[in-house]
Amino acid sequence: MAGWKEAFAIRPEEKADVLLEARTINHQRLRLTAAIVALLDAAYFVWFRLVPEGTTPAEIAWHRGIETTHAASLAVALLFLFVSYLVFRAPRSAAALLACEVPFLAWLFALGIALTTIDQAVTPSIAPFVVVCLAAGAVFYHRPLPAAALFLASYLVFYFALGIVDLDPAQLVSNRVNGLTGAVLGFGVSLAFWRLFLQTRGQRTRIEEQRQELARVNRELEHMAFHDSLTGLPNRRWFDRAVRAESSAARRRGTTTSLIVVDLDHFKVLNDTYGHPLGDDVLQGVARVLTDHVRISDTVARLGGEEFILLLPDTPLDGARALAEKLREKVAAAVFPNGEGAVSVTASFGVAALDAGEGRDAIHSYAAADAALYRAKILGRNRVEVEA
Ligand code: GH3
Ligand code: MG
Ligand code: MG
Repeated sequence: MAGWKEAFAIRPEEKADVLLEARTINHQRLRLTAAIVALLDAAYFVWFRLVPEGTTPAEIAWHRGIETTHAASLAVALLFLFVSYLVFRAPRSAAALLACEVPFLAWLFALGIALTTIDQAVTPSIAPFVVVCLAAGAVFYHRPLPAAALFLASYLVFYFALGIVDLDPAQLVSNRVNGLTGAVLGFGVSLAFWRLFLQTRGQRTRIEEQRQELARVNRELEHMAFHDSLTGLPNRRWFDRAVRAESSAARRRGTTTSLIVVDLDHFKVLNDTYGHPLGDDVLQGVARVLTDHVRISDTVARLGGEEFILLLPDTPLDGARALAEKLREKVAAAVFPNGEGAVSVTASFGVAALDAGEGRDAIHSYAAADAALYRAKILGRNRVEVEA
């Protein structure tokens, strides 16, 4: 029983979407069904016009009854086609779709019951009613309870409609029993299709959720692959890409791009004296100082350890040197709280041009900036040196 309930359960937050989707599909099928019924009505009407009416009063009444029913049904089918076209042109609201669907089903059943009842004059068959039951169950999506109400109400109408016709009692019981079988079959088919609809939809929802989760994890992984977790700055892998892109962009623009390599002074001593956690705080603080004092178009990355690198588009060596000097002062002026007191740190800077014009690639520019940095270390640290 629990499994049965589960099979038809809809998450409350999904209910409106599920109903709208089912009604939208029903509406598309409604138009197709109306078109098919209209064609059949027209064909049968013509057919009945062409064949002779028969001889007995019962045959004549049957003939005219069927002819009139198909003519009336054709008019209703055309009306539905027109109205459903209007409903579909307007924004789709679940209420409007339902307002079209309920009378449509009522008409389909009325057609099946009318044809069956009239047919009783010449045949005990109840085929039209059974066909409508199966079609209503298989073609349209219904939730279980409304489906039960639909088939029950239709069966009751069928039951009493047959009573109007003058049938012998055994025939009447037989037809009513067969009609019940048709209605129950239609209901069963509608349950099976509704369940399949929910299952398919549930699978689609889960696939979509997994796809979004995968995309989120991919974005996270990509971020991790290109960023340093301690400072949040882009890492060397990211920087290498940025340099390659900037190198050709600078060539196209015909401007100079500069590199600044930054290395903290005696950082090992700071780590050894105050501990690694404070060293980490200082690295984060220096990262903030660097990013806070460059242009939005500049890139600051962590090369590794206590080394940073800056990429400065449209900045000649002089400008880069001035910026490096400013950054040197800002780093030296920054204080990092350490329990009761505070520590500070200095850094050395090596500046070089990313000069694509000389046919020099990024590796050479790194090397030139590194050589300048090395000189700054040799010459006493806490200073800026520009490539020779
Ligand atoms: P120099 O002035 O010559 O650059 O001396 P230095 O001590 O800064 O240079 P060295 O290369 O000898 O030491 C770098 C130190 O940076 C060693 C290492 O413990 C520290 N370091 C590297 N990465 C991290 C990190 O993520 N966190 C912390 N706290 N320390 C780091
Ligand atoms: Mg170093
Ligand atoms: Mg160092």
